[in-house]
Amino acid sequence: MGRVYQRILLKLSGEALMGNLGYGIDPVVVGDIAQEIAEVAATGTQVAVVVGGGNIFRGVKAASAGMDRATADYIGMIATVMNAMTLQDALEQISVPTRVQTAIAMQEVAEPYIRRKAIRHLEKGRVVVFGAGSGNPFFTTDTTAALRAAEIDAEVIFKGTKVDGIYDCDPKTNSEAHLYKTLTYAHVLTHDLRVMDSTAIALCKENSIPIIVFNLSVRGNICRAVNGESVGTIVGG
Ligand code: UDP
Repeated sequence: MGRVYQRILLKLSGEALMGNLGYGIDPVVVGDIAQEIAEVAATGTQVAVVVGGGNIFRGVKAASAGMDRATADYIGMIATVMNAMTLQDALEQISVPTRVQTAIAMQEVAEPYIRRKAIRHLEKGRVVVFGAGSGNPFFTTDTTAALRAAEIDAEVIFKGTKVDGIYDCDPKTNSEAHLYKTLTYAHVLTHDLRVMDSTAIALCKENSIPIIVFNLSVRGNICRAVNGESVGTIVGG
């Protein structure tokens, strides 16, 4: 199928890499995701990825148990680097050239985040995985996804979740839940739909970056979404 997008940003939560495990990384799931990213990259679409860390450590949760919030958030950011390196390995196993860039310098294991270098990698057809979030505590990797998408001029953010898109109520507890096909940023913000945190939505709104929310656990959905097929919910202007 032809290429719909020139450059995309894929947001993968830590939970997405966890599969059905209660904690950590499921290598089979990561392998499947890598395979789909490879298929997208093979069409010529440039792929940048922001990975979360919730499968390993969440700053807010540790802070609510008494830890200093900023310290906890730095630990959370470091957790995302483990996920980034795991995804890099899975991609390289299937011969997809991949670079990890981290917002907290750890040059022995990954490049530091340098915007122009990231763009150069993308132009050369390499997948770029952004680790360590934004480098700032009190932020999330969703906000990082919005920030990096704006910085690298990505046309769209694909946010993989465990459900088919954005609903008016929780589909897991309410069988009458209605799946939205399209939504405005304003609607998401005013109804507090929690698909991404409000900082992330606001950044996307300001920079007119559409967000496509789709079910990551359905095999082939990343490719379908990137090929322009209707999967999930599109949030836009
Ligand atoms: N984090 C942070 N600043 C950032 C991004 C992430 O402090 O810019 C920390 C925060 O503690 C968060 C953790 O890293 O709980 C893991 O990221 P997130 O919860 O966004 O991951 P996800 O929910 O996508 O798995």
